[in-house]
Amino acid sequence: MSHKQRVVIMGGGYAGVLAALRLASQQVAEITLINARDTFVQRIRLHQQLAGQIPRQYALAKLLRGKNIHRICGTVTQFNPQQKLVSIQLGETQQDIAYDTLIYAAGSVINQAVVPGVRDHAFTLEAASVTQMAARLPQLAQQRGTLFVLGGGLTGIEAATELAETYPGLQITLLTRGMVGEGLSNKGRAYIRQTLAEFGITLIEQTGVQAVQANGVLTETGHLLEADACLWTGGFIPSPLARAAGVLVNAQGQIIIDETLRSVSHPDIFAAGDAGAFAPETGLKMRMACATAMPMGAVAADNAGALLTGKPLQPMNFAYMVQCISLGRRRGLLQFVNADDTPQEKIITGYAGAIAKEMICQYTVVALRLERLLPGSYIVPKGKVAHPALITQPQA
Ligand SMILES: Cc1cc2nc3c(=O)[nH]c(=O)nc-3n(C[C@H](O)[C@H](O)[C@H](O)COP(=O)(O)OP(=O)(O)OC[C@H]3O[C@@H](n4cnc5c(N)ncnc54)[C@H](O)[C@@H]3O)c2cc1C
Repeated sequence: MSHKQRVVIMGGGYAGVLAALRLASQQVAEITLINARDTFVQRIRLHQQLAGQIPRQYALAKLLRGKNIHRICGTVTQFNPQQKLVSIQLGETQQDIAYDTLIYAAGSVINQAVVPGVRDHAFTLEAASVTQMAARLPQLAQQRGTLFVLGGGLTGIEAATELAETYPGLQITLLTRGMVGEGLSNKGRAYIRQTLAEFGITLIEQTGVQAVQANGVLTETGHLLEADACLWTGGFIPSPLARAAGVLVNAQGQIIIDETLRSVSHPDIFAAGDAGAFAPETGLKMRMACATAMPMGAVAADNAGALLTGKPLQPMNFAYMVQCISLGRRRGLLQFVNADDTPQEKIITGYAGAIAKEMICQYTVVALRLERLLPGSYIVPKGKVAHPALITQPQA
């Protein structure tokens, strides 16, 4: 007797949870969602948590309730694409589970390997490190201590401003290799600079970090900048599991996927969110973001369902609309962008920007809850239509 097709979803972040909900409503497969924790981590709010705010917790069981989704709280230690097995560490025990189709949505973590000393001497925006640093900051601020935020991308900007607003006593420096807010428009960058200055944040640009030490930051030019604490925000890196499994990955370790989100080396694997990168010939480029993880989760689920029912797979058709940056709780920047994520000169700033950002953050969870109640309700922002020649045909 043939079994119901088994879909395993690895990772319960923005991409994985949306994929699980979306696929469950199609009722075409037995679905198992594996996640390292039993709660949904709102990564986009971790800088708020760093500043002592306590974002609402969402149990995965609650987000998925009423859906026929088997949930496993454990850590995937490896997977074997030949045998189609996923190995999971559950406390002291190890369990292997089989799949017919794998949706790989294991996300990313802050890349700590690029600069020596980060692992030992810097905090990062990972849940465990955030808890430790959040506990230390009130005292540091009281002593008017010095904090270096390393990295001038959106994550560094959000963290520096959030902390400056909460802890005016902290002496914060934002140090970056290039220029702050490089992907923004001229107006957007100018607003960021003005806001950093108004918060009293010192900005050091065009300065690479050679190493992080216990007493501060050693720059590439050999200067030691003394600091009481450092927060490293220098980029995301995907889980190493796909590379170790022999799936074709790019230099960073993201699974290389075609326009339908199927691995180009293993067509029974879909990748979504930070864990996947489109093959260069697709012409599709997605930055690691919640803004792309959710659309990718939806499309991966739709195409996994199509694969199992012999329907044609649909290419990713996605347009960026905005980049939205919080600058504390009372200011924000809404940067309008073209479909390819290049910035327009149109921005919304100030309290209106803060409200817009807060609404976007809330929407991410609302969208998950709606998808549970109203299957198919999540709408992918449409834009570029992929090249039809690259669309993979469904397997018999
Ligand atoms: C402070 C901060 C602010 C951000 N702000 C924004 C923003 O404003 N807008 C935006 O678009 N993006 C933002 N991002 C980026 C965004 O959070 C990520 O791109 C997004 O979370 C990616 O979603 P994902 O589902 O691919 O992965 P994740 O959200 O990382 O989820 C992956 C899940 O897989 C689980 N997992 C991983 N490995 C294993 C394993 N081996 N076994 C079991 N489970 C595993 C993890 O525990 C996690 O639950 C921000 C990130 C940070 C850190």
